[in-house]
Amino acid sequence: MDCCTQSCCSSCCESSYVEISACPVCKQEGILVKNFTVRHIVSEEYLPQVGTKDYFLCTNPECDVGYYQGENVFYKQQLKVPIWLKKDANPKYVCYCGKVTEEDIMDAVLKKGAKTLGEACKITGAMKDCKCEINNPTGKCCTDIVKEAFEKAIKIKEGKMWTA
Ligand SMILES: [Zn+2]
Repeated sequence: MDCCTQSCCSSCCESSYVEISACPVCKQEGILVKNFTVRHIVSEEYLPQVGTKDYFLCTNPECDVGYYQGENVFYKQQLKVPIWLKKDANPKYVCYCGKVTEEDIMDAVLKKGAKTLGEACKITGAMKDCKCEINNPTGKCCTDIVKEAFEKAIKIKEGKMWTA
């Protein structure tokens, strides 16, 4: 049932129009990112164009758009760091604060014997001085991304042990 054609509510429809905005290039809905995060990620030369409003981050891995808001679009090439969720992110940071990559986590688990997430973080320096709000392009804490990389590494390790 499409609630917008019913008289059931006005709040849900209103909020979806205000908060959800589609990427001007791929038309997929992005996620809201605070202005001060965007200011930290966009390259110096483009800073004057950022303005004061919050932006959306295009989360489509195939799309070249980083941030957008109305007429303003910053492509991933205009940013200081690669966005981890884009398909060709290189390096693929899982923790932007510690500049730790997915590979670093893999290494910690597969070569340096980290058995827990905590150990992997200790070895790599991930999630130490977290300032994800300004360092991570999504403006969110890197915990989930680090955890995902860790679990992926553990799976690979277990797979190897089974075949060994
Ligand atoms: Zn897009």
